[in-house]
Amino acid sequence: MKRAFCVLVPLFQDTKFTVSTMAKLTDFKEWKFRSSPSYAELPIDENPQYNEPVAVKNAVFSKVPTEPLTGKLHLVCVSEEALSDILDLDPKVAETEEFVNFLAGKYLPEGGLTVSHRYGGYQFGFWADQLGDGRAHILGEYVNSKGECWQPQLKGSGETPYSRFGDGRAVLRSSVREMVASEACHHLGVPTTRAAGLVVSDDHKVWRDKTYSGMARQERAAIVMRVARAWYRLGSFEILLKRKEPQLAQTLADFIIKHHFPHIDMNDADKYVKWFSEVAHTNLDMVATWQGVGFTHGVLNTDNISVLGDTIDYGPYGFMDHYYEHYVPNSSDDMGRYAFNKQPEILVWNLGKFAEALDPILSEEDKAKIKAGIATLPEYVNNQVLKTYLAKLGLKEIQDGASSFIKDLLDMMQSTSADFTCTFRQLAELDVTKLSDTAALEAKWSLNKVCKAKGWLKWVHKYTDRLQKENVSEESRRQRMSKVNPLYVPRNWMLQEAIADADNNDFHKVRLLLKIFKEPYSVNKEAEMLGYSSQPPSWSYGLKLSCSS
Ligand code: AMP
Ligand code: MG
Repeated sequence: MKRAFCVLVPLFQDTKFTVSTMAKLTDFKEWKFRSSPSYAELPIDENPQYNEPVAVKNAVFSKVPTEPLTGKLHLVCVSEEALSDILDLDPKVAETEEFVNFLAGKYLPEGGLTVSHRYGGYQFGFWADQLGDGRAHILGEYVNSKGECWQPQLKGSGETPYSRFGDGRAVLRSSVREMVASEACHHLGVPTTRAAGLVVSDDHKVWRDKTYSGMARQERAAIVMRVARAWYRLGSFEILLKRKEPQLAQTLADFIIKHHFPHIDMNDADKYVKWFSEVAHTNLDMVATWQGVGFTHGVLNTDNISVLGDTIDYGPYGFMDHYYEHYVPNSSDDMGRYAFNKQPEILVWNLGKFAEALDPILSEEDKAKIKAGIATLPEYVNNQVLKTYLAKLGLKEIQDGASSFIKDLLDMMQSTSADFTCTFRQLAELDVTKLSDTAALEAKWSLNKVCKAKGWLKWVHKYTDRLQKENVSEESRRQRMSKVNPLYVPRNWMLQEAIADADNNDFHKVRLLLKIFKEPYSVNKEAEMLGYSSQPPSWSYGLKLSCSS
């Protein structure tokens, strides 16, 4: 048995250059949560009754036990990095019965306190009232060897006071999608909740109507263990506004600032203004990273937006194949409210609702400052997105005409159905002087589409000009670009294939995806053999997902 410890080895005199040599815990029975989680300071409904839908009052959490997954269990996959870097666990523990039981909600390590969080939300623009963790349990809090505090949470772990008419469960397909996307997003530089592991039962079945066609069928229940610094959402405050609980809103805001925004002075008269501004800007920085990797969340309701600026709740999301600005992966989003190109403005709309929810705890002066701050957000996010695209082209400066320069490229990609991910990647692979060379372009399947657009040569000319003005050498252009333009993203068709195998208890592909997305910028032989950076198969064209999960 080894105990986790941390040795800081100075490499140079400068103490900034240190490495952490860790021995990870190999015996999971030794692993414990901190003795009392910070959230125990907040009001918790200690004895909730939930035989029928209930409106929870005067509490931020409800104390609820998990309902373990029954039947024969399979460990589908784990994230080795989440286990070792976040939870200080040797990934070998994943093979132990205790660990699988931990994922299945059967075993709660010492210090655990299982709670479900109360929140509300605006769904598709309309107030949906109380939502809450209807199938999720936060298990406890773990302070790791780096001093970071993390909250493991099970999703699919049984009914809670927030289940409404749901069964508290999650199925394998949506759990695989959440597991792979959260880990991939982390490696793609997208701020996100993480996923540590996934377990499925052979025998525990639930009814789901996967396509909302009226044809429900039985599917196997699964549980994914997600990990985040905390799970508060914009909707955590909205429910307190609607239920007229301003005192609790203030308690929660002060708690979150104290624990998660410690650089904000609790005695600062502007603390709420500063906090709002930080919540807003981190969320807008996050959405700019989505635009950069072609990620469309699919369900940007205010209950799915974290106060900490992490991507949260992966459902019917999609990483775009061919570029289409109105891309909508969610089959229920008929109006395209959450289309790819709408995401930045939707985040701003959501933040407006967040400001409304804080209203009862703000002074008149705070309100005026926040109002003025909100007015600056559209321009801020547009700039962040613009900078993201410029970086994808190896550029840094926002020179005159930068927006239309980017728009011209995207328009050409759209009109030629060029692939979002591969166009940028292939621009990094080809020498800039070859961008007008037909033979060189033919060797790059996505560039070979976009170069057929009418304005291509003119655009290449402008691009070359901009590179020269910024004094970017060809070597540094390509170096910069290959660090921000991935070769691989978790496209829905890859996930569908991995899920089909997982349905037959063959988990190789799910595990392979996790391995590939650890290094999405590097060529991977297996990924190449499977065509993961090639033109997507025709059967995947127009693939959409429902919210059924
Ligand atoms: P989502 O679309 O996954 O963000 O979920 C929206 C709301 O529905 C949240 O309050 C979830 O907890 C709840 N929910 C979704 N599926 C279930 C389920 N099977 N059982 C109980 N609650 C659910
Ligand atoms: Mg949600």
